[in-house]
Parts: sequence; structure tokens; C-alpha cells
Amino acid sequence: MTCRPVGRRRFVGAACHNLIMYNSEVRRHATDMIARGLSLRSISMATGINRATLLDWREHPERSINPRSVCPRCVPSPTLPEPCADYAYLLGLYLGDGCISRASAKDKPVWKLRIICADAWPGLIRECGRAMSAIRPLSTVSTQQHVGCTEVISRSRHWPCLFPQHGPGKKHNRTIELQSWQQTIVAGHPGHFARGLFHSDGYRGINRVHAHLADGDRWYEYPRYLFTNESADILRLCSETLDQLGVAWRFSRRNAISVARREAVARLDEFVGPKY
Ligand SMILES: [Zn+2]
Repeated sequence: MTCRPVGRRRFVGAACHNLIMYNSEVRRHATDMIARGLSLRSISMATGINRATLLDWREHPERSINPRSVCPRCVPSPTLPEPCADYAYLLGLYLGDGCISRASAKDKPVWKLRIICADAWPGLIRECGRAMSAIRPLSTVSTQQHVGCTEVISRSRHWPCLFPQHGPGKKHNRTIELQSWQQTIVAGHPGHFARGLFHSDGYRGINRVHAHLADGDRWYEYPRYLFTNESADILRLCSETLDQLGVAWRFSRRNAISVARREAVARLDEFVGPKY
């Protein structure tokens, strides 16, 4: 086995006759240059990849790279992360209760996506881990136990590409806007996005209302959803998605969206349901 760097990228190289195995990003970059008609010599000079390897890629495109390892956003021709439904759910979780931080020293651009899940809902911890694995299949998902909650963690170089809302400080102290490709995904999968939001910063519980009636006091109970967040931008994203789903909502507090009408709760149950 041999390893050598190309520019700032790392790759694992394995000598095989005169060919070297490069990681998928390096290969994708080079094959894009081949497709644009650049000569192998100029690509070799620009990238450091030997010409025998470039010739092999040009002549045998069927020996394709593993698509599961490619970041869909930082390639020359970006595509949507797939499965889009899992991305929409994970975006909801991330905006509700997630953060992205460096996983190691600054010279190693690896990032951790961390989402806090309450221990009371083990099914949500599993669903969160499954969604992370679906979006970055080659990244291992791990958990870290805290008092009363579990942090679900996935390490990748590409979480900031996939969640460009990443930035310093709390989300409610900065503007949170979806990029156009994220808007496309949310518009196509509003139920999954709402599920992520309500699974992180939301709640489906029983509301009890006290009423004074002529023949005595009564208590009424009914199910309702609450979504609480300090970011006006994230509250707006939640309310717009509820509008798209046809779910009636109102602000019950400055920072809380309430879904309480019987038919609205029934409609949201189709996509979210009780935590589990
Ligand atoms: Zn990327």
C-alpha cells in the first residue's frame, strides 16, 4: 500500500501494476475534466494523477466510483442529496436541535453533525441515526450519553456542504435561510421536514382546559402539537410547511406554534404522530 497526497486532498493509493486507486472525489474531479475535453497530459499536470490512471478512467468509465461516497453538493455539477425524504427529515432535526462542529484539529476538515435526542424516545434516536446513515452511508453513526439525553453523531467532511446553515453561534442569532436546492427538497417532502422539526423541537401531548360552566367546572382534554424555537426564521419555515400540508396553526406564544384544532391534529398525525 502506498499513500501520497494530491494538493490538499487525501487519498488512499494502492499500487496495482501502473495504476493507483484514488478516492472518489479526486476521480470525479478528473473525469469531469476528461469529459470537458482537456488532454490527459494537462489533467495529469494539474492534478498530479499519473497518465496511466487517467487513461484507464477514460477508456473504462464502467469501472465507476462508489456513488455512496460522493458528496452531491461539492462536485462540479451538484445534485440533490438522496434519498430526498431522509434529507428533508434530517434537515428538520438539524434546524430544531442539531449543530455542526469540527471533529478534529483544524488541519483535518472533518466535521461532526450532532443531534440531541431525549432518552425518553429511543425510537427517535434510532430514526435519527438511520437518516444520518442514509445521507452519508459510509460515515459511522455513534452516540454519546448525557444526563437524560443522547447525542447522535456522524462524522464527515461534507456536513457543512449538506447543511450550509452551519455557522458560529446560536441559530436564533443568525439568519436561517434555505438555499434553493433545499427549498426544492422541502417543497417535495413537506411531511418529512415537518416530522424532523416536531421530532426535535416539537411535542404532541394532551392539553387540559378548565372551563367554568353554569352547572359547575369542567376539564376538557384534547391532543395538540407544539413547536417551540427561538429563531423567527425557523418558526417561519415550520409555519410555511404546515400551510403547505393544510394544517391550521397559530402562535400560542411568541416562540411557539400550536396545532390544536381536531382536524389539523389529525392531518399532522399522518406525518408526525406521537414521539416514541
Ligand atoms: Zn461536500
